[in-house]
Amino acid sequence: MAILVTGGAGYIGSVAVEQLIEAGERVVVFDNLSQGHRAAVHEEATLVVGDLVDRAAIDAVFEDHEIDAVMHFASRTAVGESVEKPFLYLGGNVACGLNLLEAMHMAGVKKFIFSSTANLFSNPESLPITESERIVPGSPYGESKAILERILTWLDATQGLRYASLRYFNAAGATERLGEDHEPENHLIPLVLQVALGQRDDITIFGDDYPTPDGTCVRDYIHVVDLAQAHVLALRALERGSCQYNLGNGSGFSVREIIETARQITGHPIPAHVGPRRDGDVATLIAGSDKIRSELGWQPQMPDVRQIVESAWRWHQAHPDGYGS
Ligand code: UDP
Repeated sequence: MAILVTGGAGYIGSVAVEQLIEAGERVVVFDNLSQGHRAAVHEEATLVVGDLVDRAAIDAVFEDHEIDAVMHFASRTAVGESVEKPFLYLGGNVACGLNLLEAMHMAGVKKFIFSSTANLFSNPESLPITESERIVPGSPYGESKAILERILTWLDATQGLRYASLRYFNAAGATERLGEDHEPENHLIPLVLQVALGQRDDITIFGDDYPTPDGTCVRDYIHVVDLAQAHVLALRALERGSCQYNLGNGSGFSVREIIETARQITGHPIPAHVGPRRDGDVATLIAGSDKIRSELGWQPQMPDVRQIVESAWRWHQAHPDGYGS
């Protein structure tokens, strides 16, 4: 039996594939390589290049391989882009997810791990944000994940699907082999490190008039390896029933604090200037992850934001052109 990993050539998916293989699992990666990288796919995984809009291509994966469970990473993930291009998200992300779920249903596969997001919580009533917080998506991206979470509850109730919905706060950091390489890059830490590498002149801070201590957005950065580990634990626990978990370290860092941390680590001055807010952004997102800690024994190994940025810096120095190098 194998685990099907959609988006297994992408940033978080490729790290999860590495961990699954280290845990002795067989893995089939399904990825259209539009954002993912062939070089990021573990050599022991089977790569099927295909698109989730193509039902026949997904059905063929279930016919050709004995799939026991699915981890669904493949998705568009840019908050700002989703505000500009809502149909890509409210249409594309949802339609692709549904195609996959229907193909799973037809193939009789009942285990599903879903990549969800902190952008479900645009108006938190309390911090840190626990699983009981009301879902009020902050952008079409967050809404696409909220819709799929709703769909999952129905498939659990009507089809016996067992799923875990993992709401990522801010994935960051790298392993020795695998790191963050988006085209175009729009995430804070890789952008800041590109400035340190001399590939960009400066970093724009998207707004400094938020209700936070220094006026810039506060995020909970979680190491991609710790995030991937949660997927492996969630998969093992699926027989207990479906669940949702918020995943972060429980501490918040502002955009300015991240830039300052990167200055200290890289020794580069990293010029920054303030620009307008980015549509879809939420002022403060900090995860309450007690539920996954107590229920699954999840324990982040690299909770320190310094370690997270250091690991990303090592990867970017070794791969200045990302997977192109
Ligand atoms: N951000 C920024 N400048 C950039 C990119 C990001 O100020 O060039 C801010 C962004 O507004 C957010 C935080 O950095 O508050 C983290 O953004 P990122 O895109 O890395 O992750 P997100 O929070 O959207 O998942």
